[in-house]
Amino acid sequence: MTRRSLLQGLLTGGLWSALTGRGEAAQAQVRDMKGVEELQKNWKSYLAEGYKAPLPTEPLKLSKEEWRKRLAPDAYKVLREEGTERAGTSPLDREKREGVFVCAGCDLPVYTSAMKYDSGTGWPSFFTTIPGVFETKTDRLLFIPRTEYHCKRCGGHHGHVFDDGPPPTGQRWCNNGVALKFVPKTGKT
Ligand SMILES: [Zn+2]
Repeated sequence: MTRRSLLQGLLTGGLWSALTGRGEAAQAQVRDMKGVEELQKNWKSYLAEGYKAPLPTEPLKLSKEEWRKRLAPDAYKVLREEGTERAGTSPLDREKREGVFVCAGCDLPVYTSAMKYDSGTGWPSFFTTIPGVFETKTDRLLFIPRTEYHCKRCGGHHGHVFDDGPPPTGQRWCNNGVALKFVPKTGKT
């Protein structure tokens, strides 16, 4: 390999992203807040054909026992008891197909695949959300207060939002994988 072709290879590959700091944002083709607003507005284009998405304004209220029956034990622990799954355990962290992530408790769509990025933390991470689907509150379980968020429809706990995400939002929605289900736009789950 000549010096020139090596340089070209580097520039067209990962190094270019690293140098310009555009890695993840470029992947999602979101360079400014206008792009983020577009993603939020057009989230339905990531839905599988025929998928009946519930609305955040249709509350799902169940008793503790009903939730226990409906959810797998690990999902119950996170969604109903504000637990946290072990980092690196969720296959959804590596999910790269086009589609929509919905709440595992109530099927409310909360993110599209275009809002996801690899934060390297071992938890599925997103730089923005479908609008109006989460409510936040301050969690003082640890010494430093954190912002916890939960599903507006069923009240299920999903994770915490931090301010060290990629530009342009700077947000990192750090989501427990067991609190989510992935609905691919095409093909089978
Ligand atoms: Zn929910």
